[in-house]
Amino acid sequence: MDQNKIGKFIAETRKQKNMTQRQLADMLSISDKTVSKWECGKGLPEVSLMLPLCEALQITVNDLLTGERISVADYKQKAEENLMHLMWENAENKKRMILSIVCGVITIIAVCALVVIASFLAIPTAARIAVILLAFVTAVTGIGAAAVLDAKAGHFECPYCKSLFVPSMGEYVKGYHTFTRRRLTCPACKKTGMCRHRIVR
Ligand SMILES: [Zn+2]
Repeated sequence: MDQNKIGKFIAETRKQKNMTQRQLADMLSISDKTVSKWECGKGLPEVSLMLPLCEALQITVNDLLTGERISVADYKQKAEENLMHLMWENAENKKRMILSIVCGVITIIAVCALVVIASFLAIPTAARIAVILLAFVTAVTGIGAAAVLDAKAGHFECPYCKSLFVPSMGEYVKGYHTFTRRRLTCPACKKTGMCRHRIVR
């Protein structure tokens, strides 16, 4: 799905209805910044806002996701394409999330095993140091891989403007986090807050 095309389509349709961003935002009980952000192609409306938005603009969800008014002849094909794309995206995200957890668990087991070997096995000191180094490298690599997979799974949701975004790896690693939230700066409204990790759009 083309965010820029969808954004331009939202702007065009809103102007045809002689609505300002503010008026459209008020109809949806959201900030006009959020509308502006969609129109600039910086994020898609979240699912719960799609129907009210389409009602306000008098378009179908299918038109919205395609970024243009769809003729009756093309409707079924476009609907299927959009549906398949959403399903594919959700499946990919779930796969990454599971891989990330598996990767984390394997890392913990491997590191524990190596630490046990280094601590209790009667081996020369040089070998002991090598095993400890190996445990360290395994921990760093495994946690790194788990973090990359987790950061790229789905999106983070800004608590202020509700926009969805994927953080850069640097930002992701720095951010204080709980199991489902992470402190990040929203690229749309530039505010920093605890952003919820959403796997399914
Ligand atoms: Zn925001």
